[in-house]
Amino acid sequence: MGGKMKSYRKELWFEVPSRRGFVNITPQVKKCLRESGIKEGFVLCNAMHITASVFINDDESGLHYDYEVWLEKLAPYGPVSQYKHNVGEDNADAHMKRQIMGREVVVAITDGKLDFGTWEQIFYGEFDGRRRKRVLVKIIGE
Ligand code: ZN
Repeated sequence: MGGKMKSYRKELWFEVPSRRGFVNITPQVKKCLRESGIKEGFVLCNAMHITASVFINDDESGLHYDYEVWLEKLAPYGPVSQYKHNVGEDNADAHMKRQIMGREVVVAITDGKLDFGTWEQIFYGEFDGRRRKRVLVKIIGE
């Protein structure tokens, strides 16, 4: 401790070609951490859209398939007319899926590395894709 506090900010852009999808963004966040030069502190990573999530879990395709099925049971895409939000749009389900999967994650930085638990990886969760969307990475520390 006793060093000068540093601050780093970057926007990561994603364009998922399908309506829904999960992207492991851990490599991009690690690159941000290297660029920041910060060794001790915290990284905040959040979706900058209300129909997308950032969350931490396992990079395992069976689990991602299970999320898709589970989310579709909780907030099915159709019939589109079941949602009051869908006047002039069709993404009410995407807002709800985002709410369940979360807006952001915070990860501790220790000795210049993301201080993850076992199997933890950071994901971008897209629920209304086929357009360019952003994730904010903010790193604070020294
Ligand atoms: Zn909407």
